[in-house]
Amino acid sequence: MGTRLNITDSNQWLAKDDSPVIISGPCSAESRDQMLTTCNNIAKDKRVSILRAGIWKPRTRPDIFEGIGEIGLEWLKEAKENTGLKTCVEVATAEHIEAALKWDVDILWIGARTTVNPFSVQNLADVLKGTDIPVMIKNPLNPDLKLWIGAFERMNNAGITKLAGIHRGFHAYDNKPYRNLPMWEIPIELKRILPNLPVICDPSHISGKRELLKAVSQKALDLSFDGLMIESHYNPDIALTDAKQQLTPTALKTMLDELIIRDEFGTEDFELKIEALRLDIDDMDHELFNILKRRNDKTKLIGQYKKENNITVLQLDRLRIMMQERIKYGDELGIDSAFINKLLMLIHKESIRIQTNIMQDKEV
Ligand code: PEP
Ligand code: MN
Repeated sequence: MGTRLNITDSNQWLAKDDSPVIISGPCSAESRDQMLTTCNNIAKDKRVSILRAGIWKPRTRPDIFEGIGEIGLEWLKEAKENTGLKTCVEVATAEHIEAALKWDVDILWIGARTTVNPFSVQNLADVLKGTDIPVMIKNPLNPDLKLWIGAFERMNNAGITKLAGIHRGFHAYDNKPYRNLPMWEIPIELKRILPNLPVICDPSHISGKRELLKAVSQKALDLSFDGLMIESHYNPDIALTDAKQQLTPTALKTMLDELIIRDEFGTEDFELKIEALRLDIDDMDHELFNILKRRNDKTKLIGQYKKENNITVLQLDRLRIMMQERIKYGDELGIDSAFINKLLMLIHKESIRIQTNIMQDKEV
């Protein structure tokens, strides 16, 4: 995908220094007291640099708490004045943007349920035209990287250059043990395609429960995410939304203390050693490709032979026995069986493609 975006350096609006940006605050603003107690306490931890609060909540079903509305922005502004921290809120309509700008919110974010809809994203981009406000875009609910990138493009076309991504996981039929499947390969691919775009992880909405937060946060840091957005509440058990996944300010501090922040680059000695190891890996990958080429050549011979003898390409018994034998062999070598399974399926698919082409006298 050829995507060139004009992205303002994150140091100019998001990051204070090289350490990960920590955004925290309640899932939903509920009361002045809840907002100020929570925000004043999390702000005592100097690693937190941005306050969050949900003002309008996109709920699955009607007739439950759908956010406190504009009054919450007044409390957020008070929290900002008390703590000196920047603030961010989710916006989904032109009215939300108007209210957020009126109450001096520093950063807007677009929620997962809005990113899925190009009409909505375009609408927000049209309203934001002419402003310079930073916009963070959560991934769409469905694992569609192009849709996510499209939202950045729409903002960029409207002149918004202070952009960041927020990875909050994806809806999946089988999402256990998560609330939303992380599918890390998608944000990694986003970072590969848009290397200048800061990408933050939202472990709260990926995890859905406090017990998973630390592992998900650590994984994000190990994958060089630029920061974390973590929901917090002075008393999570009475929270009106997402009670199971919010942390008290104290628990947030403990978790941040426990997270290991690794350097992206090491000492000269480290770099030399890693370079040598990487050269070995390069050689091994070449060896692997040579073996795959020899395997494909053998598959062609088998395909030819089946064709001459009028035998079907697919023989399920052979596939079953082969899979069992390889998984056992791999297991003895200590290779993860799920990995072997996926690899074999890919190799087998290629073998079927080669043989089918031979049957149909096509190039292989
Ligand atoms: C939120 O951050 O409170 C929220 C609603 O998140 P998402 O859009 O990721 O579901
Ligand atoms: Mn939430």
